[in-house]
Amino acid sequence: MATGFVWDERYMWHQNDPTAAAVVTAGGFVEPGTQTENPDTKRRFKNLLDASGLSRKLVDIPARPATDEEILLVHSQDFLDRMQGQNETGGSMGPLANFGPGGIDIVRLAAGGVINAVDAVLDKTCENAYALVRPCGHHATPEMGLGFAIVNNGAIAARHALERYDLERILFLDWDVHHGNGTQAIFYEDPRVLTISIHQDNCFPPQSGTISDTGSGKGEGYNLNVPLPAGSGRGAYVDVMERIVEPAVKSFRPQLIIVPCGFDAGGFDPLGRMLLYADVFREMTRRLMAAANTVGNPPIVMCHEGGYHASSTAFMGLAVMEQLSGEQTGIEDPFAMFIKEMGGQDIQPHQTQAIDAVARLVNQFKPRWD
Ligand code: ZN
Repeated sequence: MATGFVWDERYMWHQNDPTAAAVVTAGGFVEPGTQTENPDTKRRFKNLLDASGLSRKLVDIPARPATDEEILLVHSQDFLDRMQGQNETGGSMGPLANFGPGGIDIVRLAAGGVINAVDAVLDKTCENAYALVRPCGHHATPEMGLGFAIVNNGAIAARHALERYDLERILFLDWDVHHGNGTQAIFYEDPRVLTISIHQDNCFPPQSGTISDTGSGKGEGYNLNVPLPAGSGRGAYVDVMERIVEPAVKSFRPQLIIVPCGFDAGGFDPLGRMLLYADVFREMTRRLMAAANTVGNPPIVMCHEGGYHASSTAFMGLAVMEQLSGEQTGIEDPFAMFIKEMGGQDIQPHQTQAIDAVARLVNQFKPRWD
């Protein structure tokens, strides 16, 4: 058994409209910069896997376009029509969700890549898999794209898994620094899917991802938000794994785990204010795998989300890939030395307080998950 990897050069050809973001044009008073979401971080992550030799140890999972039927597993017909109707010219599916001419062909390749990753682990071709896709997906809701996400890749793949393999329990662990609002919205009333999002408190989308959003109807108790204060580091994230994620995995006993994997909680990221570095992502992956191991080893599929610092993101990605595959390259994170010893890496009282509130919810909902 091996670790699968989804990559397609065309993911790098997706274009965000550079005029779309205020951070790019800076109000028109300074020289325009580069769109924050661009191919650099993703390409460097792939380059590092190649340069380190790790790529050769991974099983290549090809991308393919998601079909209309697959996109409709999550999105509405109106959404699909609007999206496809703009493919030739390029267009937008919502705030910061722009694409260039032919961009929807790439969007379909991203969603299809994650579906293929899910198929590869459920068919047991691979033990686990990472889909390094672009554009990302976790902000997209059934009716709208948002925050660089056009369609919700992870959610489409999850619905595909529920239908095709008759699964009953899928767990999402979204550790992108921004709230996984789209995934939350899609599965809010669905008790088959437990969605957990660890994110920076009230970062993006604004006013999204509060503790009180716990699901509704039959899905009540199947959505957990862990909004961490800005400045959280290793101590806080490990505590969340220990007190929230591990008990949830053990109680819910998922048959598949999907990780919308963003690296924008990294200490250098321009779109987050957290303090992580490669070894923390390695440790979170190790803990997730160990927890899965106690409940029959459900496969883990990670789909790429954010991470906007071009060079440090690659090393956080490498650490996750090393842990998933069990292969060590011996390459160290050169950025860790600047972040690791910073004050605030150990858990702080106000962070403990925030995690306590979610831990109480975990205890409240555990009987329902069992
Ligand atoms: Zn993000």
